[in-house]
Amino acid sequence: MKPVTDRPVFRFAPSLNGYLHLGHALSAFENQRRAKAVGGRLLLRIEDIDQTRATPELEAALIEDLDWLGIAFEPPLFRQSEHFPDYQAVLDRLIVAGLAYPAFMTRGEVRRLVEAFEAEGSAWPRDPDGAPLYPAADRLRSEEERQMLLASGKRHAWRLDMEAAIARIGKPLCWREERDGGIVDISADPAAWGDVVLSRSDAPSSYHLSVVTDDAAQGITHVVRGLDLYHATAIHRLLQELLGLPAPVYHHHRLILGPDGRKLSKSNGDTALRQLRAEGRSVVDIRVLCGI
Ligand code: GLU
Repeated sequence: MKPVTDRPVFRFAPSLNGYLHLGHALSAFENQRRAKAVGGRLLLRIEDIDQTRATPELEAALIEDLDWLGIAFEPPLFRQSEHFPDYQAVLDRLIVAGLAYPAFMTRGEVRRLVEAFEAEGSAWPRDPDGAPLYPAADRLRSEEERQMLLASGKRHAWRLDMEAAIARIGKPLCWREERDGGIVDISADPAAWGDVVLSRSDAPSSYHLSVVTDDAAQGITHVVRGLDLYHATAIHRLLQELLGLPAPVYHHHRLILGPDGRKLSKSNGDTALRQLRAEGRSVVDIRVLCGI
């Protein structure tokens, strides 16, 4: 047998903000199948940085649902909530490198500014998910003004200075995507996301910051996840490059859409695995519903 470190490492990394649904089942099965095909290890990471929504009850339900699906994960279970100091350390590196700045605008303030701008007839630039790019005002503040606002205790997030970050790398970035049994290079366009959030006033890390930190910490070599995160991979590649972290191979799989044509979310309660199980569906039924 090969030494553990040489084996490919996969992870399934659900957010703990609702019950698992069919979309999660597809993702977990895909990870299981791909890991098995290459003799890889499969790890479970619970993405619970949003402590306002994560509960022990949801975590227990998640583990029970995965057990029921028959998907085994190699211990130990990784919980993001147990790694907040690691994210802080990574954020501090970006701050010290001059690549992150405190962002003081609330979501409501950004929304009002964008609405006022668009009322004049021009479109505000948006990211690949359709969200408005963060306004430049906070990035353009002087260091003195920043320090004054921080000292006053004003609530703030930290954001990546995207332009500075891209300039620091100074070369085009790609990621490796597994497709149709081969690997293709996809050119990454992190600039399309603007100054992404790295930590929020109410959460010590953003998804982007923690996902790259954890993928490296867990030695992940293969990231298998839904196509909804395809474009976000550009941000992950940029952060990996800035932080000197290894880049896994990616595979983004199809999504299961709800009747409204949008990706499933916890509001599509009728596709929750526990609901389907309570209705008497078997794991084979779940596979069929997932189209596999
Ligand atoms: N936590 C994310 C989700 O549940 C997935 C993160 C990832 O696979 O990178 O959608």
